[in-house]
Amino acid sequence: MKKILVANRGEIAIRVMRTARKMGIKTVAIYSTVDRNAPHVKFADEAVCIGEAPSSESYLLGSKIIEVAKKVKANAIHPGYGFLSENADFAEEVEKNNIIFIGPKSKAIKIMGSKLAAKDAVKSYDIPMVPGIEEAISDVAKAKAIAREIGFPILIKASAGGGGKGMRIVEKESDLESQMQRAISEAISAFGDGSVFIEKYISSPRHIEIQVMADTHGNSIHLFERECSIQRRHQKVIEEAPSVVLSSSLRAEMGEAAVRVAKACDYIGAGTVEFLLDENHNFYFLEMNTRLQVEHPVTELITGIDLVELQIKVARGEKLPFTQDELEIKGHALELRVYAEDPLNDFLPSVGHLDIYKIPSGNGIRVDNGFEEGMDIPIYYDPMLSKLITYGKTREEAIQLMSKAIDNYSIEGVQTTLSFGKFVCQHEAFTSGNFDTHFVKKYYTPDVLKAEMESEAKIAALIALQQYKEDQKIVRLPIH
Ligand code: ADP
Ligand code: ADP
Ligand code: MG
Repeated sequence: MKKILVANRGEIAIRVMRTARKMGIKTVAIYSTVDRNAPHVKFADEAVCIGEAPSSESYLLGSKIIEVAKKVKANAIHPGYGFLSENADFAEEVEKNNIIFIGPKSKAIKIMGSKLAAKDAVKSYDIPMVPGIEEAISDVAKAKAIAREIGFPILIKASAGGGGKGMRIVEKESDLESQMQRAISEAISAFGDGSVFIEKYISSPRHIEIQVMADTHGNSIHLFERECSIQRRHQKVIEEAPSVVLSSSLRAEMGEAAVRVAKACDYIGAGTVEFLLDENHNFYFLEMNTRLQVEHPVTELITGIDLVELQIKVARGEKLPFTQDELEIKGHALELRVYAEDPLNDFLPSVGHLDIYKIPSGNGIRVDNGFEEGMDIPIYYDPMLSKLITYGKTREEAIQLMSKAIDNYSIEGVQTTLSFGKFVCQHEAFTSGNFDTHFVKKYYTPDVLKAEMESEAKIAALIALQQYKEDQKIVRLPIH
């Protein structure tokens, strides 16, 4: 493998290219017209414009991307996450053109891309599942009967859903019909597939996922868990590894279950098996993401393993260079997704111009970044600017470092989730480890954040005033 085309943009494109370069592999970026001067374009050895700004006219044009790959003689395509990464037809077309797709076979992508097909595939592998139905439902009377049986609240979910979209909680039977209709029409418009199903709504869960890795020689292992319970709109904002709630025996049990899920679909490469963990520490299979996950860096830090390097080695047909027994967790890692979103305004996207953009650095700090000062944040794509990742010997150390790193990250021009990250790091529920997926709903209001920001601003102003007075003294010193 001499040359890889990275079919993505932003921080993940750069992240992938960094490892390729380290391995002596040339990199090709693709970009849309609005990304002409983006850092991922500058970072690559070669770059090719693929189309207009809307992703449907650029980053999602599978056939065109393959044409470009052939033209520049790339041997492999890395899809990153989002965009075409979970598109089974794309993966298949890549391979048909004798280009290596750095990811699983299209069959596994297809199965796991449908939450219903996934449940069906893992059924005979002894995987605990959230109580509910395992087929699409459109008959309201039948849905009511099932809901009564599993008990309210229930969750209506789109089989093709992703990115936290396509879910509706139903508290009582009288709401079921209208919510179901809404869920179906939302699923059709968002995913082009109106299949919905019903799951029991687990009332106080934690989101725990397991990183898996499988080679083409029949070896499948797991690289422990990530805790991703701090979410807004069912989407992760802060992730960490390891989780404070897993005992080593539960970790082994969930890890083994995840490996069985991978085996159920003949998985190859890096993947993530997501579970919910209830208050009694029962775990349930949610879904499998057949790609590199946004939050993969926390796993890299606690295992010392470069997951992109492993993906590339597996894609080249190499054996996994270690066994399960050789893996161990060392230290603790935390990740904050730095989104251009306004935490004071319902986390709505806050795109604009990056007037000031300075990322922190130092021991134990890693920033996977896709932006630079002076850039505009395009409205066409996911508003994530970077991932701020910290690593310490202990969880306390990683949290402390995160707080400090947030303070040293200066962004002006747009609102970001940095202040929200600070709020979480200082909250007792988070520091004590006693939280679930409802953290934001339970503890977070813009007013609390505003108060914290104001008191910080006051302290900063006092310090500045003090400094001013000191400076004045110096200026006024009589010269002898
Ligand atoms: P992760 O656990 O890796 O964060 P997410 O579900 O948040 O997974 O998705 C990762 C990326 O892919 C995000 O940029 C998200 O917006 C995008 N994404 C995932 N699924 C979909 C989907 N079905 N439709 C649109 N975007 C999606
Ligand atoms: P997506 O494909 O959008 O990532 P998931 O099935 O992974 O969908 O669920 C995303 C999030 O939604 C979970 O992390 C969790 O917070 C919440 N969720 C999903 N299913 C349930 C459930 N049955 N009970 C409670 N919360 C759930
Ligand atoms: Mg998920």
